[in-house]
Amino acid sequence: MDRSSTKEILRLIPSVDAMLQMETIAEALARYPRRLVLDALRQILDETRETLLKATEPGPSEIDRQKLAARAAERVELLSRFTFRRVVNATGIIIHTNLGRSLLPEKAVERLELICSGYNNLEYDIDRGERGSRHAHAEAILRELTGAEAALVLNNNAGAVLLALNTLAQGGEVIVSRGELVEIGGSFRIPDVMSSSGATLREVGTTNRTHLKDYASAINEQTALLMKVHTSNYRVIGFTAEVGLDKLVGLGRERGLPVIEDLGSGCFVDLAPFGLHGEITVQETIRAGADLVTFSGDKLLGGPQAGIMVGRSELIDRCKKNPMTRALRVGKMTLAALEATLRLYRDEHQALEQIPTLRMISTPEADLEPRAHTLATLIRALSGSSVLEIAVKRGHSQVGGGSLPAQNLPTRLVAVKSETYTPNRIEQVLRNSDPAVIGRIESDAFLMDLRTMEDSDFEPVRIAFEQLLRD
Ligand SMILES: *Cc1c(COP(=O)(O)O)cnc(C)c1O
Repeated sequence: MDRSSTKEILRLIPSVDAMLQMETIAEALARYPRRLVLDALRQILDETRETLLKATEPGPSEIDRQKLAARAAERVELLSRFTFRRVVNATGIIIHTNLGRSLLPEKAVERLELICSGYNNLEYDIDRGERGSRHAHAEAILRELTGAEAALVLNNNAGAVLLALNTLAQGGEVIVSRGELVEIGGSFRIPDVMSSSGATLREVGTTNRTHLKDYASAINEQTALLMKVHTSNYRVIGFTAEVGLDKLVGLGRERGLPVIEDLGSGCFVDLAPFGLHGEITVQETIRAGADLVTFSGDKLLGGPQAGIMVGRSELIDRCKKNPMTRALRVGKMTLAALEATLRLYRDEHQALEQIPTLRMISTPEADLEPRAHTLATLIRALSGSSVLEIAVKRGHSQVGGGSLPAQNLPTRLVAVKSETYTPNRIEQVLRNSDPAVIGRIESDAFLMDLRTMEDSDFEPVRIAFEQLLRD
């Protein structure tokens, strides 16, 4: 393109000031901060300029300002979106680490609001009228529920494991079975956590079989701890042998060594009635004699992100004194939500009904069927929905969060197929809706799993499909 025509084209692009006079933009200014509207306008005008300059065909003789204004209004809506926002989890993975793991129980949210919207006794002892410890808050209820002598709440379970190893085994050796050298997605790997803590990992046994004598013969004057790690996200099957916690505790007692277990999920109720097997509870672990147990607050426990440590007071006191504890401590929001969540466990029925993670696990398949039909009917009722083929299907949900691998919960899915829209297109439009609707694609259909969806999610899903059909 020659220079004069380039100049001509650029002259067609309206100025920011001119755009600001338009009605669409005035409406945007009434709803969004001026700075964002200006940013959006500049972005749209810059993009238009670039497109015109890059074009090889002769450009248009006019520019539709209405279209530019509409695009700017759309852009300002995108710019003003929170980056951290609600999504609808239609994946069927209950403890979905990418989607925020456990939903807080209503009681926990109420408590969070009450405690955090005012001053509170985070580090104040009301009875004595003097400085108190934040560690006191969740400790009493944790002791009550688990039967442990003491408890300490930290930022997350990775932090709890790191603190335990650093406090109790820095400069010494920790014996772990080769069958338990776990990696939990991303960066938590037992060998790496061990080296960051300053302890030396002493692997014993083999991947599939470890015996008590393997632990016994590895003990030397450097040994600081015997450790078990719950193989939460995989299972070794076939010709296998692992040493039970009770046996390891026996050996620890005999040789004067503490036995610690990283439980991972940290479940307080028996999940066998819901068809899920192999998750030992925290109470059982303490009863079996573990000296220290660590677990997450937001996996099967169903509370806020936290790392919980329960066990013998002598060991927990040493952990509390470690300067690292200050770096791993939790804030008032976590403590408020955690205490409220834990109190629900005083009555198991209440826990199963009011803790969303447990409620989703324990919901019978039969309850999901009518809800799936309700959702299917809502989508079918949309104008233009004749291009969608909507069916209710059987499928499987997963607990997720590295809990109970290879165990599925029967569920109901709403499956959407279409000749007009590819499954990828459906997935993309639903994901870009706000709240985003996250489902999955399987054999040419977009699937939504009712087990992880609340009834209040149906409206956002309906709106997202409305958007799809409008485009
Ligand atoms: C999930 C898990 C962790 C990490 O817990 P976070 O709370 O995510 O830090 C550590 N160990 C095991 C065995 C786990 O399953």
